[in-house]
Amino acid sequence: MKIAEVIVDITNSQVDKIFDYYIPEWGQVGQRVLVPFGKLVIQGFVIKIKDNSNYDASKLKSVISSVDEFPVILPEQIELMSFMIKKYHLRYVDVLRLFIPSELRSDKVKPLVEFLVKLCDGADLKQYKLSLRKNAKNQLALCDYLEKEKLYQKSMLAKQFSNLAISKLESDGIIEVFEEEKLRTPNFNIVKPIAHTHTKLQKRAIDEILNCNDTYLLFGVTGSGKTEVYMSVIENIIAKNKTALMLVPEISLTPQVLSQFKARFGEEVAIIHSGLSAGERFDEWRRILFNKVKIVVGARSAIFAPIQNLGIIIIDEEHETSYISESNPRYNAFDVAEFRKNYNNCSLVLASATPDIASFKNASENKYKLIELPERVNGKPMPKIQIVDMLSEIRNGNTGIFSSTFLYELDKCIKEKHQAMIFINRRGFSSFMRCQDCGYIAKCDDCDVSLVYHKYEDKLKCHYCGKRYKALTKCPECGSSTIRNGAVGTEQVVSKLKELYPNVKILRMDNDTTRTKNAYQKILSEFGMSKPGILVGTQMIAKGHDFSDVTFVGIVDADQSLYHSDYRSTEKTFELITQMAGRAGRDESEGKVILQTYVPRHYAYRFIANYDYKGFFDKELNLRKVTQFPPFTTIIRLLFNADVDEIVRETTKMCYTEIKELKNNYPKDFVYLDVMKSPIGKIKNKIRYQILMRITHDNENELISQIYNICDKYMNSKVSVFVEINPQNLS
Ligand code: ADP
Ligand code: ZN
Ligand code: ZN
Repeated sequence: MKIAEVIVDITNSQVDKIFDYYIPEWGQVGQRVLVPFGKLVIQGFVIKIKDNSNYDASKLKSVISSVDEFPVILPEQIELMSFMIKKYHLRYVDVLRLFIPSELRSDKVKPLVEFLVKLCDGADLKQYKLSLRKNAKNQLALCDYLEKEKLYQKSMLAKQFSNLAISKLESDGIIEVFEEEKLRTPNFNIVKPIAHTHTKLQKRAIDEILNCNDTYLLFGVTGSGKTEVYMSVIENIIAKNKTALMLVPEISLTPQVLSQFKARFGEEVAIIHSGLSAGERFDEWRRILFNKVKIVVGARSAIFAPIQNLGIIIIDEEHETSYISESNPRYNAFDVAEFRKNYNNCSLVLASATPDIASFKNASENKYKLIELPERVNGKPMPKIQIVDMLSEIRNGNTGIFSSTFLYELDKCIKEKHQAMIFINRRGFSSFMRCQDCGYIAKCDDCDVSLVYHKYEDKLKCHYCGKRYKALTKCPECGSSTIRNGAVGTEQVVSKLKELYPNVKILRMDNDTTRTKNAYQKILSEFGMSKPGILVGTQMIAKGHDFSDVTFVGIVDADQSLYHSDYRSTEKTFELITQMAGRAGRDESEGKVILQTYVPRHYAYRFIANYDYKGFFDKELNLRKVTQFPPFTTIIRLLFNADVDEIVRETTKMCYTEIKELKNNYPKDFVYLDVMKSPIGKIKNKIRYQILMRITHDNENELISQIYNICDKYMNSKVSVFVEINPQNLS
């Protein structure tokens, strides 16, 4: 008998290896099977079938049965699994679980079947009716009804004519009842497909992408019509009988794009994102697996979709950090996209108005082909960005959150019955509450962070663990009742605006207002209909939205992301504000952007106001080179977590000693190495320490693999160790 290599579906690091089993003739690679495992019978996945085993043949057990009739993992995914395990030091089962929706593994969701009814071949309804007794009213009525159509839903017939009548006709051989699967598909606003005549630049971009298989960076300003480029490219690809995969960030945020895809490609597109119901996700995944669709559009995890014969992969808004998974299993969707591009020998398109510095560096070194869309489709200028110095506002006696220019432009926008978007990247009412007399700041009991005041609920909240506390009316330390609020958040902006415009629709979009399913869609469509209207929000409102009547964009506090203790803070600020500004003036009426700052002379703002990405890029890249930060080096953080301070401190120290030895063996490769308490020393009652290093690219892979091995030794039931490569968040 043949031998199958099987990965068992158990999360236990001790059993994360491949097991050999005998498998009968029916066995296929990629199939889900049941296998004996100790005293249990569990699910496993066949990843290889071979003739011989290295284990003692007499001790091998046999696969019990298959779970599905078809393979659920593609050969491509089996190779991808090896790639990911090697690159990210992951466990087999964790990778496999990325490939298969949990709904399938748990067997909790079943295909939705419908019972249908049709007339049997050769059934003579007239003759049959004559044979019925006069008082068989339901049967007679059913017979009359059945002459109308070919196919009926059984449930509908049962309601009208009773189940009994149906089973009588069935047993008399007049009708046939059979099952058919009904696929659940996500709902969309139905829109009419828009047919655009391509601009010259769009046409050039489309031709270039279709010309040869390569990696492209599509650098197009906001409103340059990138979505139309994607759709045309995809249209061409599927005309050649190939398939397409497109990643978009936070999919539920851009229902407009999805509706356009559905309008243009209908049943040929499958959608995957976290907002789907379990049944929808299960069915969309199976439509893909069974080659029923040609296009997959989805958020990060859609990169694993079992779509075959790829002709193109597109990553929209490629600078978005949501393409990187920062919790187990950690991976970067780019690496996976690159793997799939090579496997399928197809093109990969990365697109953005504000490309990641590392991507643009690759393009400038000709590792990617650069395609530019420097103008908006309608030839309209980019909205003018005016920088307002908030210190001089204070000097002039205005201590409010809005400058006079801000208020003037907003007022103009409202009077003209246009729409305004106001950006403040902090949710809640104010960032902290502090006692004016003794300096006491309310902090979370379980995390080393200050609490944020939420006025709507009148509660203090921890943004790290979610714990809620009573709001302060007086200081618990000194009893003083002069409590001061910290920096403004979305709630406060909304409440100020409501005072100014009691009759204008003002909507808020942030993590607090979008917890329920479809909340995004509701807020966005309500805003779309409100003229005049104001949408206040965090970074959620900055990206992708295409509202034609937005003429004013206000940035309340631009500096906020500038002072994160992160080497990327300037890049992130540039990106966020440029994207936010891009929401204004997308149609006929011109747009205006007011950017409020306390450091008006910061170089980032000069480049932002001039829409000078390339100037910014040169300056930033040079800075990174001089200071030896990514993309010139790689940052590695080893994060240690435990309940007891002493245990985690000791473990970190021991590990640090070993890493220092490693550094001695590779003295040229380490540009930085240190050990310390993490910036946030405690989260959810876990004490956090870290070892931080930066290494050059010369021996990067070798070093990372050695670091993984070192860390494995310190992982135990008391301490957890995370190895983070270029982490997005260093708190
Ligand atoms: P981007 O993603 O580059 O910011 P979009 O793809 O959202 O830009 O396009 C902006 C707007 O321009 C959309 O409303 C789109 O329908 C429209 N558009 C795209 N291409 C054309 C074209 N060739 N002619 C006219 N309008 C277009
Ligand atoms: Zn006090
Ligand atoms: Zn907390």
